[in-house]
Amino acid sequence: TTERNVVLHVDDVSKNFGGLHALSDIDLEVEQGKTHAIIGPNGAGKSTLLNVIIGRLAPTSGAVVFDGQVLTGKKPHQINQLGVARVFQTPEIFPDLTVLQNVMVPAFAKRDGAFRVNVLRSVDREAALRDEAEAILEDVGLADRRLSHAGALSRGDKRRMELAMCLIQHPRLLLLDEPTAGMSRHDTNTTIDLLQKIKARGMTKVIIEHDMHVVFSLADKISVLSGGRIIAEGLPDEVRGNIKVQEAYLGG
Ligand code: ADP
Ligand code: MG
Repeated sequence: TTERNVVLHVDDVSKNFGGLHALSDIDLEVEQGKTHAIIGPNGAGKSTLLNVIIGRLAPTSGAVVFDGQVLTGKKPHQINQLGVARVFQTPEIFPDLTVLQNVMVPAFAKRDGAFRVNVLRSVDREAALRDEAEAILEDVGLADRRLSHAGALSRGDKRRMELAMCLIQHPRLLLLDEPTAGMSRHDTNTTIDLLQKIKARGMTKVIIEHDMHVVFSLADKISVLSGGRIIAEGLPDEVRGNIKVQEAYLGG
């Protein structure tokens, strides 16, 4: 048996939007280097939980702790500086920049501590960074699109580019909100392969995912969220056979 090394704690987190209890008493422990999937029906609170972790939303109560540091109360860019990166459900990109430039921007922003408007002026001098960005674009299967305008990419390619924008930051914790949403089966499988490659590098991941094929291909542990509560949790095989999970999905 190996020792459990929990790197991310979600500690009794609740989030209300007015009278709506989007999250109620959520406890989560994510182990170093593992892929922890959060699944559940639409409206379950998955994106809200992710936004609380990355500091976009303040919880009504409770706290999030990453690697011994309390994230709750910190700003999103401060949390990002601690090694936490995220891929949103809707990609947030720079449509008028090239794919290569998009991938280089987060590395500059991280190095400088904040995004700077003059960042593009120094881009050409950063040969090493460019090499790394090109290698990452190769990894995500976008090498041949590197000089295209990002805004011209297909939805699936935008998601891959956003993943590349995360990888260049060398995050210690990567949060993904439905990374295969809008992708064809072929692109979904390519993304699974890519995420498995990242897993081999030891990065901790929290993945929100609707597609059960993706979940069971990648997850080491699964938490099932329904109505803002965790209704089941365990290894993939345990969750697969759990009747409560089936009820949540079948609406029973
Ligand atoms: P999921 O990602 O699991 O589909 P969400 O976290 O997006 O679910 O939403 C959970 C619940 O919280 C839903 O009922 C949603 O309508 C509500 N909600 C989410 N964000 C907000 C917000 N900013 N203001 C009010 N209600 C919200
Ligand atoms: Mg969502």
